[in-house]
Amino acid sequence: MNLIKGNTGDWEIVIGLEVHAQVTTQSKLFSGASTTFGSEPNMNVSFVDAGMPGMLPVINEMAIEQAVRTGLAIGAKINLKSVFDRKNYFYPDLPQGYQISQFLDPIVGKGEILLDLPDGVKKVNVTRIHLEQDAGKSLHEYNPKYSYIDLNRAGVALMEIVSEPEMSSADEAAAYLKKLRAIVRYIGACDGDMEKGNMRCDANVSVRKPGGKLGTRCEIKNVNSVRFLHKAIEFEAMRQVEILESGGKIDQETRLFDSSKGETRTMRSKEDAMDYRYFPDPDLLPLEFSQAFVDALRKTLPELPDQKKQRYMETFGLSAYDAGVIVAEQEYAAYYETLVAKHDPKLAANWMTGELFGRLNKLGIAIENSPIGADKFGGLLALIEDNTISGKIAKDVLDFMMETGRDAATIVEEKGLRQVTDSGAIEKVIEEVMKANTDKVAEYRSGKEKLFGFFVGQVMKMSGGKANPAAVNELLKKKLSP
Ligand code: ADP
Ligand code: MG
Repeated sequence: MNLIKGNTGDWEIVIGLEVHAQVTTQSKLFSGASTTFGSEPNMNVSFVDAGMPGMLPVINEMAIEQAVRTGLAIGAKINLKSVFDRKNYFYPDLPQGYQISQFLDPIVGKGEILLDLPDGVKKVNVTRIHLEQDAGKSLHEYNPKYSYIDLNRAGVALMEIVSEPEMSSADEAAAYLKKLRAIVRYIGACDGDMEKGNMRCDANVSVRKPGGKLGTRCEIKNVNSVRFLHKAIEFEAMRQVEILESGGKIDQETRLFDSSKGETRTMRSKEDAMDYRYFPDPDLLPLEFSQAFVDALRKTLPELPDQKKQRYMETFGLSAYDAGVIVAEQEYAAYYETLVAKHDPKLAANWMTGELFGRLNKLGIAIENSPIGADKFGGLLALIEDNTISGKIAKDVLDFMMETGRDAATIVEEKGLRQVTDSGAIEKVIEEVMKANTDKVAEYRSGKEKLFGFFVGQVMKMSGGKANPAAVNELLKKKLSP
């Protein structure tokens, strides 16, 4: 647990997340209009989406399937009967005057998500998943005197995935969002693209004395990246602690995160469910399907991140953490599986998560666009495995590979980086080092054994890093002993 230290003692952060995930479908939740991203404004709008009188919504079966598959992927209860309700409010980008959503009877009930944290796995309960329509968009950039409305997004199918208030740090909330994103991407229910707004997150944050009663929460709307989620939570929790410690109280309200300032600010005081006058949409029958429909969908699920992680731990002997990192993206897992087909699984995991990821991150490149594919990276591993190069040299070779896209063996030959294992050659270097450091040799022999590392360093340096470290150790011991 990650406590905030205040003047009046420690404070615990409590977080519940509501994630909106755009369902990957060709058409909208209740109309045949296209969901293509980036079209000219108002090109993808049917009469239903525009709220024309007399138009009837028709449910998109694909959206139902994806919501059920998502429910199954988080081990949730699937409700064979659910109800669509009208959530009534006025907004210029909501032509119907209500949003069709699910309130009392959602399509998916309780499930769970396992967070991969550095110190272990934590289970967070999911309260529900329901289906609802997205709203349109108000545009102000054309002419500041007017608001323009783009309804392309109006009616697009969203899943709202609601967690219990069970996360207790920004790190846990970030891990939750990442895991949920990985799951929906694995099963193809949502592309998880937060930049395009296809996945967005409302963070409910409160603070309390450890173990005490839940505090009053504030809801931070539409956080659109994992990094911003992290920042928004940390800022908001501190803000609440400061108010409470100076004798104030928290007003339940909806707040916005300003990413340029790194702070949250009031948007509106919180409305209650009551305010929306939810009632079943009279244009839609309750949604009912059979257990057989659910069972058939279960068969369409791929190996999920947690299953893959388990398999990597069992068959490849990876640590939970490394396995978690590799299964986070299907592309990582595919890359890794190409490597382990020919190479040592642990070596592959270490070099991939440590060295390759580090370099890709620095360049801001996704693994699919890596200048070195899995086969080439495997070529580097092969040279480490058969002792052609040391790990230290391999890091330099990897740098050249990243720059040039060339393969490891060619670089090693051209630059003459082959490791020296020939004991005669190594002994010659050792003798030179000893000659140049006679005083240190004497000290070592009179008992200052700590100097051993110094000699190893000197020999490695003089050999240009190419001497085989194990051979250097062995020969040095022999030569230095009186
Ligand atoms: P609403 O319907 O008004 O949005 P809910 O009770 O459905 O409210 O909760 C919405 C989200 O707020 C859930 O993710 C829940 O876990 C979270 N939440 C509820 N109470 C708290 C609290 N005291 N602190 C932090 N999060 C909370
Ligand atoms: Mg809510």
